[in-house]
Amino acid sequence: MSFLRISRENFFYNLNQIARKTQSIDRVALVLKDNAYGHGLTLMADLAAEAGVRHAVVRTLAEAEAVRGRFETVLVLSEIPEKVPENGVRVVVNDRSCIATMPAGCEVELKVDTGMHRNGVALDEVDAALEAIAKRGLALKGVLTHYRGADEMGSDYFWQRRRFEALRDRLERAGLKGVRWHSHNSASLFRCGSFEEDVARVGIAAYGCLRLPEPFEAPDLRPVASLWAKRLATRRLCAGARVGYGGEGELKEAGTVSTYDIGYGDGWLRGDARRPYRLPDGREILGRVSMDMFSLRGEDEKVCLFHDAGEAAAQFGTIAYEVLVRLSPHIRRVAV
Ligand SMILES: *Cc1c(COP(=O)(O)O)cnc(C)c1O
Repeated sequence: MSFLRISRENFFYNLNQIARKTQSIDRVALVLKDNAYGHGLTLMADLAAEAGVRHAVVRTLAEAEAVRGRFETVLVLSEIPEKVPENGVRVVVNDRSCIATMPAGCEVELKVDTGMHRNGVALDEVDAALEAIAKRGLALKGVLTHYRGADEMGSDYFWQRRRFEALRDRLERAGLKGVRWHSHNSASLFRCGSFEEDVARVGIAAYGCLRLPEPFEAPDLRPVASLWAKRLATRRLCAGARVGYGGEGELKEAGTVSTYDIGYGDGWLRGDARRPYRLPDGREILGRVSMDMFSLRGEDEKVCLFHDAGEAAAQFGTIAYEVLVRLSPHIRRVAV
């Protein structure tokens, strides 16, 4: 069967690079949403705990339930609980209307909209939201925001950051205490100069696929996941034979062709057979990708589809995040 090879060494290396930037592993909140960016939720949670990571960020309550116990805090980004979650699990308030639906006693962190306009309470509604949180009996544990363009050239990042810092100044002067403040994702963490917040929510950098455009200095990170497929069948074909659906994979010369056990049903992108995907070893996928397989010249027992999801993503005109999170949970994850 196909498998995703997870390099412990590279993951630990990246966490170490990140902790150098935050000045402590205690200030890293590892983002494990969406099956840990496809790497495998509990596997990566175990490795992170082994590395000393104390804070996690997930998308759903089910993910929080699966990883809780390994971390001091688990922050749920986008689900509202019906009852107070287990110890250490806290929930993001993405909108003022959420507050009234949350169970009293729930630990929450308030998301503030500093300019991305996706989630969070508007800056001029923060005071009302804080009041409503207190009135509802929710325990405020943090205030956060998210940048819309930290990985792109431009001043948006600085503008949002200044608004967040101004809010922090104002609320702290008004007496708000005992909450953690965080705005950074991977890109903004490596762009921020000196890190001065309580935690950074780091996802893609930990998985080794953060890309920053010139002229930003690229952090030294190593891809954690590589995707491997196993051989299902092999045949000898003559020149002119056409392989796969639509016969789109035409052989210019006679040769050996094998079929491998990954397809778009596994979350691999189907792409366009007229612009075939090139493997790290230089060979191209032959013809159309099927639901559960693809074909290739040669007869190796296993082949690597990518060592770096970012390079695969570039061929498909997308981002590493998409290539990774699409990978089916049924693909075996093997830590080495
Ligand atoms: C996904 C996510 C992150 C992590 O972003 P990376 O670019 O992977 O570091 C941080 N914060 C929020 C709110 C997110 O949704």
